[in-house]
Amino acid sequence: MTIVKKASVSLVKITDYDSEKIHNALETCLLNLGGIEKLIQPRSNVFVKINHLSPPSLPEKAIVTHPLFTRGVLCLLKQLDVNITVGDDIYSKEEDGFLISGYRQICDELGVRLLNLKEAGFQEVRCKGELLEKIFISPPVLEADFILNLPKLKTHSFAIFTGAIKNMFGVIPHGLRHRYHREFIKNDVFSQMLVDIFSCVPPHLTIMDGIVAMEGEGPSAGNPKKVGVIIASKDAVAVDAVALKITGSNPMNIYTIQNAHERGLGIGRIEDIEITGENIHDVEVRDFKHSTIAIGLFKRKLPSFLYASIQNQLTFIPEIITENCTVCLECVNICPLDAARFKEDSVRIEKSLCIHCLCCHEVCRYQAVKLNQRPLGKMIRRVSSLYEKIVSLFT
Ligand code: SF4
Ligand code: SF4
Repeated sequence: MTIVKKASVSLVKITDYDSEKIHNALETCLLNLGGIEKLIQPRSNVFVKINHLSPPSLPEKAIVTHPLFTRGVLCLLKQLDVNITVGDDIYSKEEDGFLISGYRQICDELGVRLLNLKEAGFQEVRCKGELLEKIFISPPVLEADFILNLPKLKTHSFAIFTGAIKNMFGVIPHGLRHRYHREFIKNDVFSQMLVDIFSCVPPHLTIMDGIVAMEGEGPSAGNPKKVGVIIASKDAVAVDAVALKITGSNPMNIYTIQNAHERGLGIGRIEDIEITGENIHDVEVRDFKHSTIAIGLFKRKLPSFLYASIQNQLTFIPEIITENCTVCLECVNICPLDAARFKEDSVRIEKSLCIHCLCCHEVCRYQAVKLNQRPLGKMIRRVSSLYEKIVSLFT
């Protein structure tokens, strides 16, 4: 008889970012897991990994882990005898990008160290991944006794979903992230690389900000959507799985979850997750819009040649909307293949060079990168979306 390992996830409802409500909800959430003082040893070096996507943005846009949510977590940590560093690897035209998101203010107020990881440099480490043999990780992350992962619940137009697993992508340098976008151009392979990185720095605890999430064309051009939950677990894969279930998708159709589950890095099957706190059915948001359908379903069910042709059909094709473009050149600077170019006073995409990585879409803060779909891809997406919705009604 096979014994299935269960993951324990704590799920708490909350309506908004009111500080007192956050404090109470976090306390309840962590009590369901045994209490924060049971999870973190005294005098630990705690590294708090936020999602602070570059270029920086205001918290209301739901692109970053909300600073008031992080503030609530930091207040709980401050009650313990631990050293705290909050960080992410960010780039910004402004001198201090953390000022725009509000992170500088909350960390100064609480007397907590806030670190742009590039300032601490990166150290080469071996990675026994499926794709990567070595990577570079920031020393404050490597040296931490306890990694506390604070992802945002968001869609992702390329990787489908960005949550707990993908949040660890930010502990490697910007230049390497850029290179991996160029090297791993299919979203299933890219997700496999994300899981490789996650496997090198598995968080000890994940607390997801799902109070106001992002739906649609995430991770930056989607719309804020109230989901009203905090999800926490020692198993980051299970946190992602619960977030997906709440937003109406089968978690095992998401490449990162599927891959991490198969590699034994966490539990992705919702049936194998024990949820304490709220009943998951009471917090489900059935009209949540994912940026793309869960094409992992095809990967699991179809022969590889058929899957590959469907995957090509589902690729989004970026197009610059000149009227919205401020010529900030963020997309030109990020494009890994020099396909986004500044030419004759405007920005254009050289179609023959584009690998559809959607980095241009991710960095644009003016909704000036439209994502087009191929006709067959559009149809497949609609049918699969409908299928997922019907299935989620009965599970
Ligand atoms: S498309 Fe967006 S990111 Fe690119 S230059 Fe225009 S406004 Fe900036
Ligand atoms: S134009 Fe955009 S999608 Fe195409 S390669 Fe450049 S960043 Fe990637």
